[in-house]
Amino acid sequence: MRRQRIIIEGIVQGVGYRPFVFQLAARLQVAGWVRNDSRGVTIEAEAEAAVLAAFVAALQAEKPPLAAITRLDSSELPISGARGFAILESRADQAARAQIPADAAVCDNCLAELFNPADRRYRYPFINCTDCGPRFTIVTGIPYDRPQTTMAGFPLCPSCLAEYHDPASRRFHAQPNACPACGPRLTLFSADGRSLPGDPLAEAVCLLGEGAIVAVKGLGGYHLAVDAANPAAVRELRRRKRRDEKPFAVMAADFDSVEQFALVSQNEGRLLQGVERPIVLLEKQADFLLAEEVAPQNRTVGVMLPYTPLHHLLLEKDFLALVMTSANLSDEPIAYLDDEARLRLSGIADAFLIHDRPIHTRADDSVARMLGDRALLMRRSRGYVPRGIALPEKQPSVLAVGAELKNTVCLTRGDRAFMSQHLGDLQNVETHMAFTTAIRQLRALLETTPEIVAHDLHPDYLATRYALEQGALPTVGVQHHHAHLASCLSENGSTGPAIGVIFDGLGYGADGTLWGGEFLAGDCRAFERVGHFRYVPLPGGDLAARQPWRMALSYLVATYGEDLPTLSCFSAVPAEEFGLVRQALAKGVNAPLASSCGRLFDAVAALLGVRSVASFEGQAAMELEMLADLSATSPYPFGLKMENGMLLFDPRPLVRAIVESISSGEDRARCAGRFHATLAEMVRQACLVLRARRNLNTVALSGGVFQNALLTTLVRERLERAGFTVLTHSLVPPNDGGIALGQAVVAGRRMRGVAVGEGRDGGEA
Ligand code: ZN
Ligand code: ZN
Ligand code: FE
Repeated sequence: MRRQRIIIEGIVQGVGYRPFVFQLAARLQVAGWVRNDSRGVTIEAEAEAAVLAAFVAALQAEKPPLAAITRLDSSELPISGARGFAILESRADQAARAQIPADAAVCDNCLAELFNPADRRYRYPFINCTDCGPRFTIVTGIPYDRPQTTMAGFPLCPSCLAEYHDPASRRFHAQPNACPACGPRLTLFSADGRSLPGDPLAEAVCLLGEGAIVAVKGLGGYHLAVDAANPAAVRELRRRKRRDEKPFAVMAADFDSVEQFALVSQNEGRLLQGVERPIVLLEKQADFLLAEEVAPQNRTVGVMLPYTPLHHLLLEKDFLALVMTSANLSDEPIAYLDDEARLRLSGIADAFLIHDRPIHTRADDSVARMLGDRALLMRRSRGYVPRGIALPEKQPSVLAVGAELKNTVCLTRGDRAFMSQHLGDLQNVETHMAFTTAIRQLRALLETTPEIVAHDLHPDYLATRYALEQGALPTVGVQHHHAHLASCLSENGSTGPAIGVIFDGLGYGADGTLWGGEFLAGDCRAFERVGHFRYVPLPGGDLAARQPWRMALSYLVATYGEDLPTLSCFSAVPAEEFGLVRQALAKGVNAPLASSCGRLFDAVAALLGVRSVASFEGQAAMELEMLADLSATSPYPFGLKMENGMLLFDPRPLVRAIVESISSGEDRARCAGRFHATLAEMVRQACLVLRARRNLNTVALSGGVFQNALLTTLVRERLERAGFTVLTHSLVPPNDGGIALGQAVVAGRRMRGVAVGEGRDGGEA
């Protein structure tokens, strides 16, 4: 006989881990007990040596679907001769430091009950168990226990209570457990706030079938839903939401339905069906069965599968897919409070399908695409948050406040980083409130008080100002592209050093100029700028990002001077505006210089006639990627040379070659393909030079431009063929939504041992 104490860290609370241990012990005839504690779960187990070994192996191998084990330690104890196995109560003060799980899609067992007429939860829209259901969005405090969730107002009925206390039940300690007798209920309201008679669900389905717009309260906020196969309904939603072109996400009834309108690879299928249920960007079928208005002029469509029981019921039989778009006006965060939703969505929604389980924390849908065999997150939110990200090493606790666009914040504890949900663009009161709320909630959930605040160098970012107003805490400014580099390194478990190829729209440079096409050499502590795109003016500053034709003109002037070639791509631009911008460029008025890669994409998109005016940032670049002919792989000429120790990429020969291509009638798709190939070849040559000078063989790719799967794939291929180790993102977005992670790591490393003690929460997961 042997007896061992086994300590397990990770996501092991609120996910059915203790009943799993209990049942495993019963099956293998192991004696002892299991208990939740501050780090996760502690087990004492006694059995024959071989049995005990099998037990320990199964603790990892057979864990429940939502559990994640980051550490398992065991130590020998004297045998006690105990019999039986027990689940011990956790002491109230002890569950605190464990991790809160992310929200998870309804599981197969619950789905089976949902559609089983004999089950007491038949067609109950809030069915859940320890393997599935709401978590992060309903937690109001810690420890994670029913009174500290928005289920506090729903006392369990005797049947639910019995399940809750039965270690053999799937609902043992399932905090959101509920049934039709004791749990939340649906109501359907008209646009003017009257509660409508009849079965709310059936009535809502009926309205949707007639082409109405229904606001649906979900897990992390409200969606606006319409029948995705009804062009008139989708058009009307665009009109009311004042959204011209940005694609809408759809929710398909099931996996087979997705395949009727989109191409799904095996990996994409797995991503779609994962418990996180992100929106996945998929290529449309040639014969697109949904309304063209869903994703106009787009080769791809964002698709998710139902993740709440309510979604399954809504999509049960009447629709191939519903448009399910975040209920907000453009650029505002998703609406999640009932009164707020009613107010903000009046004039948009024809009806409101709501329920009385409050959403405590807002969380938008996450957005992902497959890049080879790895998922690339473009927005990390519901389903992923607040999952911790392992850091390469322990550090003092840092609050990093992120950048301006696609803001997220990050709080570290020990050797883990916790990113907030996507908060949006910090440019209005709504998002700013969401930002301060998220910081407060992260601190409370993690029971961690930051010792350091990290921020971007841009003095005008609201996040930077917030950081500098924190008074007593030491602050660390982290250069934007260095933060991108550190973010990519640390999610890959690396601290560097590496070559950072950081391509994005714009970020504030260490020298006060605008950067965005950068080669860095550095690690998670410091960096040096070793190369960049040649500077060109951004005529009109911020306007240049919304009007790609301005960048095209800027690049043409830089390339040809006064003697501009005649191109049809400016035909839609008012002559007067064109003249003014030309003058501004000539005089250098209101045209800050930038080394941006994103703006080069815009310029080329405009030159090729893809788009001269964008309705959202990055639209032109996205369309350029979609246009590209993958078989056009021969690069255009470009300039790349050392100047005063700095590697300078000069796109002017490239611009000239593209103009000649256009004039000679080369196919636009081929031009777009060759443009991508040119950048990839340029990166390869640049990295070869930097490897020779710096002796670095690892390259990290980060920045919003690397959401471009084609470019990322081409760059990776060329670098790997040249023997480089290439690091890319898969846990956090390459865009500014992932930047807080890098800020936190850089600040933590800089401040380690400098006037700040080792993190007082050091050590746990
Ligand atoms: Zn379940
Ligand atoms: Zn009940
Ligand atoms: Fe950036």
